[in-house]
Amino acid sequence: MGDALLSVLEAQMQRRRDDGLYRQRSVVDGKQGPELVVDGRRLLAFCSNDYLGLAADPRLVEAAQRGLTRYGVGSGAAHLVSGHSAAHHALEEELAEFTGRERALLFSTGYMANLGVVAALLGRGDQVFGDRLNHASLIDGGLLSRARFHRYAHADMAALASLLPECDGRKLVVTDGVFSMDGDVAPLSQLVSVCGDNDAWLMVDDAHGIGVLGPGGGGSVAEAGLSQHEVPVLMGTLGKALGSAGAFVAGSQVLIETLIQFARPYIYTTAMPPAMAEATRASLRICREEEWRRERLQGLVARFRHGAQRMGLQLGESRTPIQPILLGDSRRALSWSDELRRQGILVTAIRPPTVPDGAARLRVTLSAAHTAAQVDTLLEVLGEVASGEGA
Ligand SMILES: *Cc1c(COP(=O)(O)O)cnc(C)c1O
Repeated sequence: MGDALLSVLEAQMQRRRDDGLYRQRSVVDGKQGPELVVDGRRLLAFCSNDYLGLAADPRLVEAAQRGLTRYGVGSGAAHLVSGHSAAHHALEEELAEFTGRERALLFSTGYMANLGVVAALLGRGDQVFGDRLNHASLIDGGLLSRARFHRYAHADMAALASLLPECDGRKLVVTDGVFSMDGDVAPLSQLVSVCGDNDAWLMVDDAHGIGVLGPGGGGSVAEAGLSQHEVPVLMGTLGKALGSAGAFVAGSQVLIETLIQFARPYIYTTAMPPAMAEATRASLRICREEEWRRERLQGLVARFRHGAQRMGLQLGESRTPIQPILLGDSRRALSWSDELRRQGILVTAIRPPTVPDGAARLRVTLSAAHTAAQVDTLLEVLGEVASGEGA
């Protein structure tokens, strides 16, 4: 690289450090769980999306091992070539049944699913409407599609309803089911009616709802009792509560066939390893059967909120395992996160551009694998950090 370019990049990195926005990775050794070995040190972690505590479940490991024996490691090709294994196919059928949709289609990641769906359904002259707090992948899908992009204020149905009637072309409203950095649930029934009144399609990204909300962990859409007719495009990920990897889109026969024909991030990529699909099939069974995991999670969420509110911390309006502690300034969020880490607790600071300016936070997440005693430890240390700041 030319020296001129290098110095431009170095100046850019320095600005990022000065703004408290520099991002760094830590190296984790061993299995996912409440205790992680991070950069060689054992920490109590409250930041993964492994909400049901399944990522290291021996039954998933065993299913993956059986899959490896039967299929080998790689899928060898894209789904439309020779990479679509019996394991993928069975998982798609099980996901369709799980979500109460006609069909489901697997993607290698949630990010790709969102790019693929929005860009396959819309083009130039069409309109996409997104909640201002939607996940980055939904924004990028909108940009990729070349449709006109409209963002509405968070969960503001009046704002959405005022935008929709003025637009021509196809109209797609996209929303997170559970907002990833805030933990609140989208006003899904109201979205259904606003979309119905304005001939718009509704797409829900339920990355953080699947496995966590609703009967059998069917997600935010199942919890609200919304049919395929009401929410025609349902997207979910497999790497969070389900503890494996990948994503799916569920909906009508014609939606899925459209995606197979036109979703480029589906067509032009290698299928996920079949063993991963086998692990996910095991995980889906456990998710549906072990209701106690969701009950336990709810208990831990209540315990955390009660304790944090008693010490005056500012929490979000969330009943899900995503429990942000709102701190405002990026440097403040970073200093809380650093201090927690010194005391043996891992919670990441979330800063702009992941959240709006001035909305930096600690994103605490809970898992059914945590114990009540571990949540109490978190609360104790948070209390010390908060009072240390006041001193
Ligand atoms: C994590 C996430 C994604 C991306 O899913 P991956 O499988 O991690 O690529 C998409 N949408 C939301 C709301 C997410 O939280």
